[in-house]
Amino acid sequence: MRGKLVYPYSDALLEYEFKTDHPLKPDRLKLTHLLSKQLGLLDLVEEIEPTLATREDLELFHAPEFIDAVIDSGTNNNVHPQYGLGTADNPIFPLIHETGARYVGATLDSMRAIMDGNSNTFCISGGLHHAHRNAASGFCIYNDIVIAINMLKKKKNYKVLYFDFDAHHGDGVQNAFYRSKEVLTISVHQTGKTLFPGTGFIYETGAAEGIGYSVNIPLMPGAGTPELIRIFDDVVVPLFESFEPDLLVTQMGVDGHYMDPLAHLTYTSHGYETVVRKLLKMSSDICKLGWLAVGGGGYHPVNVARLWTLFLGLMLGEDIPNRIPDEFKETCTEMGYHDIPEFIRDPEEIVQMYFSREEISLDLERSLRRVKELVFPYHGL
Ligand SMILES: [Zn+2]
Repeated sequence: MRGKLVYPYSDALLEYEFKTDHPLKPDRLKLTHLLSKQLGLLDLVEEIEPTLATREDLELFHAPEFIDAVIDSGTNNNVHPQYGLGTADNPIFPLIHETGARYVGATLDSMRAIMDGNSNTFCISGGLHHAHRNAASGFCIYNDIVIAINMLKKKKNYKVLYFDFDAHHGDGVQNAFYRSKEVLTISVHQTGKTLFPGTGFIYETGAAEGIGYSVNIPLMPGAGTPELIRIFDDVVVPLFESFEPDLLVTQMGVDGHYMDPLAHLTYTSHGYETVVRKLLKMSSDICKLGWLAVGGGGYHPVNVARLWTLFLGLMLGEDIPNRIPDEFKETCTEMGYHDIPEFIRDPEEIVQMYFSREEISLDLERSLRRVKELVFPYHGL
């Protein structure tokens, strides 16, 4: 790996808070940073202070009138429901523009570090994959991922593989590159039939010269680690190898974890660990620019902290201790969290729920067959 892994963080990121009772809690970032620090991982990274994205940066993707509406919401307390501002998911607050721009800045700083020769970064605040060109959506004001990829592509038309394992479909990123064959987007998520944003079906494969370069694998509620690993090996690995991206970008939302309160998937730390290890190996073998990882969903702050700390340890190639330090558990308790897990990793066996395994795996077999029929021919597979 060239250069240290870059990790943007500052307490100013914690000001991105819609309302105190909103599910997207800044404690997710605060606790992730704290646990990673207590386990010594931050001694191994280059921690940087995120900058604010400029208006010009935001316009790499967003419409000027949408940016004006965000600024107006923050400054004058006006709602703009036509731009997704002031809705139940995205209430307005005074710092809505500045904090949104800081989240974008953190991801852009990561991309700049990669363009300057560092090869891997983990930006835990990034991953706002639902934001559209002209609208905020699903807790996402500005789409840091699309803006960062567009910044890179302004320099050179690099090939980017975007892989998203958040429980929700990565619709904003998919739509931004729907007509492009230089950005291959792959999203694995709970089916849009039962979860926001209601898209991400198999037949959404791209348009114009981008046909075959948007890939979606929707899952039934209850699907978990065996399905995630199967999809990775059957779809992600062959596409990764044939596409040969210059850069890997991953959205690593952990709201598909079995303990997460918002979605209905049952991933475990073991599934994530298998996938993250493979991503590290493949990105270092194939991607000459490296790997830009961002966070994403995850609505159980303590759980998010242990999973993203695990991911950071894996990205660094470090064997982190499995026991969660008492000091960390005490802080969580003081912050009002209960039932703090003892370990970074989940127990081997978890209780399965919702549908039977047979139904879930039959459904997945059908989906995999269809995805391969629709997409693989565009990749010589
Ligand atoms: Zn999500």
